[in-house]
Amino acid sequence: MLPKSDSYDVIVIGGGVAGLTAAAILAHYGARTVVYERHNVPGGCASFYQRDGYRFDVGATLVGGFGLRGVHRSLNAELDIDVSARAIEPSMVIHLPDDTVVRYGDERWAPERRRAFGEAAEPFWQRQERIAELAWDLSTRFPALPVDAFGVRTLARAVRPRHLPLVATLGRTVDAILPRGADRRLRTFIDAQLLITAQCDARRADLAYGCTALDLAREGTFHLADGTSTIATALARAIRRAGSRIAYGTAVASIGTQRGRACGVRLDDGTFVAARAVVAAIPAQNVVRLCPDVGPFYRARLAALPQRWGAAALFCGLPPGVVPSGTASHHQVVASYDEPLGEGITAFVSFSDEGETRRARRGGRAVTITTHTDVARWERAHRDGRTDALRAEYRRLLGSALERIVPGAFARAEIVEFADPHTYERYTGRLRGLVGGAAQTPAVATLGALSHRTPVRGLYACGDTTFPGQSTVGVSLSARTAAYAVLGRLGFRP
Ligand SMILES: Cc1cc2nc3c(=O)[nH]c(=O)nc-3n(C[C@H](O)[C@H](O)[C@H](O)COP(=O)(O)OP(=O)(O)OC[C@H]3O[C@@H](n4cnc5c(N)ncnc54)[C@H](O)[C@@H]3O)c2cc1C
Repeated sequence: MLPKSDSYDVIVIGGGVAGLTAAAILAHYGARTVVYERHNVPGGCASFYQRDGYRFDVGATLVGGFGLRGVHRSLNAELDIDVSARAIEPSMVIHLPDDTVVRYGDERWAPERRRAFGEAAEPFWQRQERIAELAWDLSTRFPALPVDAFGVRTLARAVRPRHLPLVATLGRTVDAILPRGADRRLRTFIDAQLLITAQCDARRADLAYGCTALDLAREGTFHLADGTSTIATALARAIRRAGSRIAYGTAVASIGTQRGRACGVRLDDGTFVAARAVVAAIPAQNVVRLCPDVGPFYRARLAALPQRWGAAALFCGLPPGVVPSGTASHHQVVASYDEPLGEGITAFVSFSDEGETRRARRGGRAVTITTHTDVARWERAHRDGRTDALRAEYRRLLGSALERIVPGAFARAEIVEFADPHTYERYTGRLRGLVGGAAQTPAVATLGALSHRTPVRGLYACGDTTFPGQSTVGVSLSARTAAYAVLGRLGFRP
């Protein structure tokens, strides 16, 4: 336990990828920083758990951001963090009800998409890539959105004349560039891909955000030795190396303010720890709970964010020989063209690599299978005493997704464990088990997003409910913005 006299330059609440990234930057540039993490391992939704020789990624499995202009790569270079990331091809395989589409990131993608979606879809793909190209380019210049007084300056510094065509995307959705009367195969493919990246379908997804999200394969997806949690563990090492610390198993109960300024946090055991600034790397709904002083305007902004998704997940340990050699690492399975996506109708399936004994001791495969699920559905089931039935239904749906890729695999699993939104709430503290941040509609993706600044001076926010939203890449960008703002505020020079 920390003595009462401890005080820091910065307290970071939450040791997910956002909090660890912010803390690693702060510590690197000399700010005396502590991270409080309620769980006993780092990573949050990009963490892992181990069972009987298997190491499972608990949420995030698809890793981007290590390409030439990737945020993980640039931050690792800046902070002298060594993570070896190997590019994977194909990025993923999408199993539609009547076809299988291989999402290559290289020159094989153009003939593959022509085969699957025809020549009529080509203008769509070309526009998507043009918009994504500009948006990626702008994102590497780290604009701070949404635009407030501080954001105007950083946005003006970031934007170049070449980015001006992006203005024409404002207020529009991906639907605007889909071919009129797009067939259901193309529409379902786009909707399913957007669901895992933008948390909504083409009719609702912001055009620039959606085009960028659809471009992940071209930017590169990567394999890390210990799975996605490699990002968090490497950041945790960098924080310690820079002389700052992470206190695991330590929950923050409230954020203290004095004359409208954040001055520290109270821990669950009642200890108050002072700091010159606080970075809340937890969902905004948790921030509101810890700091009522954020006020009604912030609450109203938060309430307006379209957020309903939780996750259901199945973790399967497959013995050696079940998964054929050469099976791609990542798959999206779409079970039906006629039912709404998510809720087990779409599932994301990720395998550890063949022979990867760090993740499956005896040379088998650790498999994570996830689907979007409305948290309200689980809350109703809990009230009505139907949770067990719902769990059984999702277990079956997620098991079928695995069967679609490797027939017979589910029956041969030596470990099968299930998680629902309640499980995510328990392990990450995310209220109601909401994950993935807000749906990236045009209103959210630009001006409606929550920024790294909060109404409380000295209290900064990052993570997947702040701009630019979910994914290890998205939260690292928001963490970088928050950390740089804090460094500037406290007089440290990056
Ligand atoms: C099922 C699923 C699949 C996903 N798939 C992908 C994917 O393939 N690729 C990808 O890039 N992204 C994916 N994501 C999204 C990605 O995992 C998240 O956007 C990102 O990891 C969120 O990081 P964060 O740091 O903002 O929040 P979190 O990961 O939620 O971290 C917050 C941390 O704060 C801690 N905490 C909370 N309250 C307190 C408190 N009061 N005191 C102390 N500590 C506290 C929690 O324990 C947690 O560790 C997925 C997410 C889920 C759930």
